[in-house]
Parts: sequence; C-alpha cells; structure tokens
Amino acid sequence: MKIVMIPGDGIGPETMSVCTNVLETISEKLHLDLELIPEIAGHDSLKKNGATVTEELLAKVKVSDGLILGPMATYDFKDETKGEINPSKFFRKKLDLYANIRPARTYPKVPTRMNPFNLVVVRENTEGFYADRNVESGNSEILVTPGVGISLRRITRECCLRIAKSAFELAMTRKKHVTLVHKHNVLKITDGIFLDCCAEVAKLYPEIRVDDFIVDAMMAHVVRNPENFDTIVTTNMFGDILSDLTAELSGSLGLGGSLNAGDRYAMGQAAHGSAPDIAGQDLANPFSMITSASMLLNWLGQKHQLPQYLQAAKLIDQVTEQAIEAQEVTKDIGGQFSTSETGKRFVQRLRAM
Ligand code: ATP
Repeated sequence: MKIVMIPGDGIGPETMSVCTNVLETISEKLHLDLELIPEIAGHDSLKKNGATVTEELLAKVKVSDGLILGPMATYDFKDETKGEINPSKFFRKKLDLYANIRPARTYPKVPTRMNPFNLVVVRENTEGFYADRNVESGNSEILVTPGVGISLRRITRECCLRIAKSAFELAMTRKKHVTLVHKHNVLKITDGIFLDCCAEVAKLYPEIRVDDFIVDAMMAHVVRNPENFDTIVTTNMFGDILSDLTAELSGSLGLGGSLNAGDRYAMGQAAHGSAPDIAGQDLANPFSMITSASMLLNWLGQKHQLPQYLQAAKLIDQVTEQAIEAQEVTKDIGGQFSTSETGKRFVQRLRAM
C-alpha cells in the first residue's frame, strides 16, 4: 500500500518524523508492505511551487492508498490567488472526505480533571458553515458593504444521511449509543434536515440508543460528564469546536488523532494546528499523529479486508497505552521526554511486542 506523507508546518516535521518511524517499524514487523511517499504542502510548497498545494500533488494522492497530512499553518494562508490554499480544505473537498472521525479518551496516567471517558466525535466535513467548501466555486462568505458580512451555511440531505450512516456504523463497533448535536431551536430548517436524516438512519439500527442535545447545552454536559457519551454526530462547525474541547478534556490537544474518510479515500490528520508556539523545540506530542496513522491503517484494513492492517492499528494503540502508562511521553501530558525520545522509545516498544 502506498501512503503519501506530508509533514506540514510548525511542529509537523517533528511529529511526522516519529510517525514515519512508527509506520516503517510496523510495516516490517507485520509485513504490511507499506510504501511511504514523502511529499510537501503548506509553507514548503508555497516557497517551492508557488502554491501550498498543487494539482500534481493531488494526482499523486489519488493513485495512492492513503494520505497522512501534517498540521498546516492555515491561519497564514489568506489569499488563494497567491497560491495560499488551505491544504486541509483542499484534500477534504477534492477527495470528498466527508467524515471527520475524532476520538478522545482519558488515560489513567494523564492528568485531567475529568472522570475517565472514551468517546468519538463524528463531524461532517464537506458543508455546513465552512464557506470555503460549501459552494462549487467561489466562497459563500460575502462582504455586502464595508462592515456588513454574510456567511451561508449549507446543509443537504445527502451529506446528512452519509455522516449519520458513518456514525451509526461506528457506534455498532462501540457502545451502541449515538448522541446528535444540533441547534434546532434556532436553525429550524437546516438542523431540521440534519435531525430528520439521523432519525431515518437510526431506524436501520434499532439496537442503538439515540439521544440529542442542543450544541450550547452539550458543551456543559460534555465538560460535566464526558463519560455519558460514546459516539457523537454533528455538523461541520459544531463538530470542529466540540472535538477540540473533547481532545483537550482528555489531557492535551497533542493526543487528538483524527481520520478524514470518504468512500474511496482517507486521510489521517492530527486534530490540532501547527502549534507555532512550540515548533522546532522537540516538545510536541507525537501521539496525535501516531493515532491518526493507526486510524488510517484500521480504515485500510476494513476497506480491503486485510487482517494484518487491523492488527497493526491495534498494536499501535496498545503501545500508545503502554507508553502513556510508563510515562514515556512529552511534557504536555506529564512526561519528561522530547518528541524524538518519545518516538524512539515508542518504536522500541513496538519492536518488542
Ligand atoms: P494554528 O494557527 O496552526 O491553528 P494554534 O497554536 O492556533 O496553531 P494549535 O496548533 O491547535 O493552534 O495549538 C493550540 C495549543 O495546543 C497551543 O498551545 C499548542 O502548543 C498546543 N498543542 C497543539 N498541538 C500540540 C502537540 N502535538 N503537542 C503539544 N502541544 C500541542
């Protein structure tokens, strides 16, 4: 299997270096026959190619089996006419990666104020309030007159049905509990469509318990009792905000792995940004990237029915648990180790499994 690896900006090269070592090790150990293809995007590509992402890169990704995208300095990329395209948006839209799966869980040794919890946010990735991706061309955020702006939120049955299906399928492998998050009291039409579609899909999964919360109340519930939730499904912007919260509640954004999945392609991507405040200092937590890689292997294993890929994902997750238990981790989650040393120890553990 060919996997394109894009380190990205900020802490990306540091965490990607660890992730590459982990994938090479697991490939050798379980005979996965992975071919890791290094590519560039973000600032590196802007300097070299005049654009943060290119059609040539997209073509290479399309003939590969998966992509791992490092964090991007999205905030720096403001003007598409100057090649400053948001790479996350680019791949999500061009590859139709409609489901953003963002797990968050506590670990006994990671300091957190929460009760132990293990949940996953399933976030719609291709429409909603995301003005740069919910129209075919152009942008749905409009400056009407100076000082007056409008931003449009697109919600469609098609996208709601497919994200609901992803969530219910995932819930079947977990605790069979789905929570719908919305703002139906205000966004009556659009969140009405979302809730109707979820109800339609729910009928196909009678053994799944379903509840729902208004997004603002959900923030309080998830902070108070995150252990009450298992699979949470919601629209794009609500899911973006909620999943950063749940990752941070688990101990650190540096633990937040994620997968962007469509029917044909998938992309592993840490849930956080490029963390410029700690970039280049060997401080970044590599587990978000490692977990994203494990999620991609799991997706490939399911899609192509390859048990050794499923086994690889399981092993990586087990080593993550072991490493955290042994406190062989970075400072953000209570450890003493650098990014590179955390990675070195992780690989040693993986080899020894
Ligand atoms: P960007 O502009 O790229 O979104 P940001 O700093 O605004 O960057 P994040 O990168 O998500 O947003 O970082 C938010 C906070 O979380 C920062 O203090 C950052 O150092 C911390 N953080 C993010 N990722 C990690 C990580 N892998 N390890 C440790 N700390 C992290």
